[in-house]
Amino acid sequence: MNARRKTSEPRVALITGAARGIGLETAQQLADRGFTVMISDISDSVDAVAKTLRLEGGDVHGRVSDVSNAQERGALISWVEETYGRLDVLVNNAGISPKEKGRRVPTEHTSLADWTRVLNVNLNAPFDLCRLALPIMRRGGWGRIVNLSSQAGRSRSSITGIAYSSSKAGVLGLTRTIAEEEGQHGITANCVAPGRIATQMIQDVDPQINETIRKGLPVRRLGTVQDVAAAICFLASEDAQFITGTTIDVTGGGFMN
Ligand code: NAD
Repeated sequence: MNARRKTSEPRVALITGAARGIGLETAQQLADRGFTVMISDISDSVDAVAKTLRLEGGDVHGRVSDVSNAQERGALISWVEETYGRLDVLVNNAGISPKEKGRRVPTEHTSLADWTRVLNVNLNAPFDLCRLALPIMRRGGWGRIVNLSSQAGRSRSSITGIAYSSSKAGVLGLTRTIAEEEGQHGITANCVAPGRIATQMIQDVDPQINETIRKGLPVRRLGTVQDVAAAICFLASEDAQFITGTTIDVTGGGFMN
């Protein structure tokens, strides 16, 4: 392992599911803020994405990794630690939201295997990656964990199925527990809960559903990846040091607490 870097050296962030969408935009924004950014994705396009971001001036490195696989999670964290000897920011972004003919999968059509597949990616992976990252963050005396929940985990949802909604509600509890335990070690843990964001994830849905949602929002538009990444980057920043165990809702007013 490399020697521990001085704190004046760039902080190292790991973002899962960053080959596209919210994860990719977050990688871009953290790189723009001077972070060294390690991005992973199940898609092998992640290497090309990292290369593009490097050409744009970012210190960004990619690795193909399936977060639903325990061995690959261990290898992912080791990759970061062995390369830089530190891990300061973990963004658990990779997520899946299966649909049936563009609509929510009804509970009676959700097999235990379907349930397990979603829970593995959306909840088990964030738990295990946090568990593996925390000792490294503790050694540095500083850490930021940002977990992607969803409006579907904060309130009722007519669009997502039971597995997705349950996983995203679970992420809230997971995050509060880490915040409670780790605050004393200089580590914060928070969630960002997006509403309807224009990414590939919502392209699987009947376009009429997205249009109806858009019209019903106070801001009368769907969210962008920039909207969500900005909230993630704030929670990863020094300015957010007194904020832990909470959730930023990025929903255009679709969810009000
Ligand atoms: P997206 O589908 O555009 O991107 C998700 C990325 O995760 C993809 O690059 C995909 O390849 C990767 N991924 C999927 N399974 C993986 C696995 N097993 N291992 C590693 N990578 C994997 O989604 P997005 O809209 O950018 O969503 C990002 C996060 O935000 C997700 O957690 C999602 O649940 C959450 N979210 C999105 C919305 C929205 O409207 N787009 C709303 C609420 C929450």
